[in-house]
Amino acid sequence: MNTNHLGIRNTSRSELRMRIITLLWSVSEAVFAEVDAFAWVQNWEIKRTWHSRTYRDKQFNALITCRACEATGKAGDRPCRTCGGFGRVNLLEPPPRPEGEDSGAEGVTTQPARDERPPGALT
Ligand SMILES: [Zn+2]
Repeated sequence: MNTNHLGIRNTSRSELRMRIITLLWSVSEAVFAEVDAFAWVQNWEIKRTWHSRTYRDKQFNALITCRACEATGKAGDRPCRTCGGFGRVNLLEPPPRPEGEDSGAEGVTTQPARDERPPGALT
């Protein structure tokens, strides 16, 4: 074995470098463990380096720039009808309904139509 005058084994620079990197990653994993666990439960994206973490909620991927108003939120003097004046559209939500437009949902029942004939009536 190749040792120095103190009896400590000599290591190459690359081996020493790999040991330091491994140690830094180990410390990083320990330091960020609790926050990483929280982010994992929230289903966030986690970008890792040995010295930092970046967390991002995946729901932000559903936000896109409103093409109708080019992110200004305005259509002339009025708020943009496509994005409701926010300048962005959430792909996970239905588009906002313009004011005054009948949704057509009123009066609609989800129950099956009843048989209007009296019980026992002949067909
Ligand atoms: Zn818009």
